[in-house]
Amino acid sequence: MECCEGKLLYGSLLSEKLKRQMKEEVEGYRANGLRVPRLDTILVGNDPSSLSYIRGKKKACEVVGIENVVHHLPADISQKGLEDVIFACNQNDACDGILLQMPLPDHLDANHAIFCIDVGKDVDGLTPLNVGRLYAGEPCFAPCTPLGILSILDAMGCAIDGARAVVVGRSRLVGNPVARLLQDRNATVTICHSHTRRLREITKEADILVAAVGVPQMIDHTYVKEGACVVDVGINRRKDGHLCGDVNTEDVLPYVHMVTPVPKGVGPMTICALLMNTMRSYRLKVG
Ligand code: NDP
Repeated sequence: MECCEGKLLYGSLLSEKLKRQMKEEVEGYRANGLRVPRLDTILVGNDPSSLSYIRGKKKACEVVGIENVVHHLPADISQKGLEDVIFACNQNDACDGILLQMPLPDHLDANHAIFCIDVGKDVDGLTPLNVGRLYAGEPCFAPCTPLGILSILDAMGCAIDGARAVVVGRSRLVGNPVARLLQDRNATVTICHSHTRRLREITKEADILVAAVGVPQMIDHTYVKEGACVVDVGINRRKDGHLCGDVNTEDVLPYVHMVTPVPKGVGPMTICALLMNTMRSYRLKVG
């Protein structure tokens, strides 16, 4: 199977493969005299993590050939100043996707700013209308991490239709939307959270187990059904400075069909899904 080493499915390898495919597609547009897809990213201030995320997204766009315009705004910009930039992107026909990098400085209202993004350019899938469409089962831009997780499950060769799926975590950005996407693909989905009783008994029944908890290596083999596809969304920093996920990968490895590692698992697919959504927006516009 592609993109894996043994039972480890690397999102990093899968994202490289998908980016190569997108690159070919963009080269085709260029060869036909069409404009290339464009992503506008909006960054307010100089938060080091945000700067690093913006750089990562720019690099990924360059690989694929998507134009990336970064609007780097001062940390003290007003709400109106920020929203004027968003409206300008909304009105620009050359812009296919808008990404507002979070977090925003405290004086800004993030929800109101997100609300200003044109739903047809909301490639992060965060506007209320996109969220509503997701839950109504209508065409929409799904949020990037959940979209990346679905691509990972497909690459694992996981039969989602009819599977019993358990998502541990019910956040707005990850747990809930991934559960919704799995349901759209006809999985029978249970969402668990910090109040769930007898969690192990529930996860033990899962053909698909998605861990989006934020508790380092909480999921060991006692939580996992033999032959399950396990996706580890967690990114936690250990005391020794290294990253680890919510799954104890080594411990579950003998029991699973496949599992994603941390790092190089879900993380790279989140950026890849942003590019996939930008390409989709472009196709819808250019036809
Ligand atoms: P949140 O903190 O928003 O949500 C965590 C969820 O886990 C909550 O629903 C919480 O329950 C549940 N939970 C916490 N402890 C337990 C427990 N002991 N048993 C069962 N459920 C529990 O986190 P996110 O969803 O934003 O992120 C989850 C993890 O994924 C984090 O490590 C984050 O860093 C990572 N992440 C990775 C991304 C990537 O690209 N790879 C992208 C986004 C996040 P309750 O609702 O009851 O509080």
